Amino acid sequence: MNVLDSELIASSLVQAGYELVDSPRDADTILYNTCSVRQHAEDKIYSALGRLRPLKERKPQTIIGVLGCMAQKDQELIFRRAGHVDLVVGPGQLSRLPEILEEVASQRHREPRLEVSLDRMKERRSLVEESFTKFDPPRPSELRSSPFQAMVRIMFGCDKFCTYCIVPKVRGPEQSRPAAEIVDEVRRLAADGCLEVTLLGQTVNSYEDPSEGRTLRLSDLLARLHDIDGLRRIKFVTNYPRHMTDDLLQAVRDLPKVSPYLHVPAQSGSNEQLKRMKRGYTVEYYREMIERIRSILPGAAITSDFIVGFCGETEEDFQQSVDLVRWARFKNSFIFKYSERPGTKAAGTLPDDVPDEVKRQRNNELLAVQNAISLEDTLPLAGQDIEVLVEGPSKAAKKRASVGDEAVQLVGRSVRDHIVVFDGPQVLVGQIMPVRIEKVDAFTLFGRL
Ligand code: SAH
Ligand code: SF4
Repeated sequence: MNVLDSELIASSLVQAGYELVDSPRDADTILYNTCSVRQHAEDKIYSALGRLRPLKERKPQTIIGVLGCMAQKDQELIFRRAGHVDLVVGPGQLSRLPEILEEVASQRHREPRLEVSLDRMKERRSLVEESFTKFDPPRPSELRSSPFQAMVRIMFGCDKFCTYCIVPKVRGPEQSRPAAEIVDEVRRLAADGCLEVTLLGQTVNSYEDPSEGRTLRLSDLLARLHDIDGLRRIKFVTNYPRHMTDDLLQAVRDLPKVSPYLHVPAQSGSNEQLKRMKRGYTVEYYREMIERIRSILPGAAITSDFIVGFCGETEEDFQQSVDLVRWARFKNSFIFKYSERPGTKAAGTLPDDVPDEVKRQRNNELLAVQNAISLEDTLPLAGQDIEVLVEGPSKAAKKRASVGDEAVQLVGRSVRDHIVVFDGPQVLVGQIMPVRIEKVDAFTLFGRL
């Protein structure tokens, strides 16, 4: 979601006459788009801001801004911790950024400028919703990370309030974009050469658009997007386990452009922990849901997120997460050490009582179990032919200069989100090609055209 916001910010500023430069030294405006999900992400921003201090002293006219979730969460605190910051703009105010920047630049004596949305704990829902202004301006393909792929927001905010999570507070109430608007955006992207879209929402499978008389769900939206000419692949993240309904799984099964790839975070394998996290399901429910996915979509790639060391997690609770990973055989899992977020229910009511060293050990242990499974389940892919959307030269190949028809090492992705590396000419970038897999490791498939 943040990568998408950064692309949209860059697009709206280029539209307003700004030009992107390669180094902060050449910039007259430096903006950080920020994440608040874990403390570590915030620490990195505060140290990056610290490093800009000498530059700001040399060139006081440089505008420095902090955008996104940390802006909404920390607000004035950012000015107190980093006095050289000129503006702080929350994720619900990004549509006004060009205008805010112009005002800040024209001021002779700059005042710190704070633009954030209303606090949903304090104000009426309708007012708070309005204060998170929609921001999905058109963007040229050169400002996306790839001309052939695009992320498309279909929902704003989140209403789940998992006790550890800051997202509902900083990204505001859950709101779905009207289907007609999304279809328009994807149609424009496809006409512009985009082959793959990834639909984004914090709980993307709870999508609901009532604006056309009957409620359109994610399965209906997928069917509409499926009809768009030129579009070849549709993915969507992140799914909430409770909303993994059969109509959605059937849509994934019946619509060939929709990738059989489902990210459905479990967070924990212990009922005690799931209750403390207020995830709204039991591990038995989660297992049944996985079985349902496997029966409707055999062969689909299922991936998950886990938090280790959440408040009160015992060794036994943790071992239940290990059991779940062993049983579910996820394609991969993202594993995070619990990071207390001020302003969440957990921070106010539950002590962060698992020592960091234990969190680290559990993180490593769960990762090792997951990685072994990822490798075991990837091995049988050797010898198979897989369709790959070619994304570009690999990192290694980028370092070496090459000409158009010379074979270089290319990287692409399968519909199940496997990374595939193979040699081929650069002209294949942006095409979907069959690749025969010859060798695999836990995260990468290596093959030949
Ligand atoms: N809406 C998505 C993603 C939320 S943030 C979802 O519900 O899955 C991405 C991941 O970060 C979460 O799935 C969770 O595993 C992790 N996360 C969120 N808050 C966290 C915290 N306070 N500490 C550690 N990990 C956290
Ligand atoms: Fe956070 Fe839970 Fe919402 Fe995901 S569903 S964004 S983890 S509150």
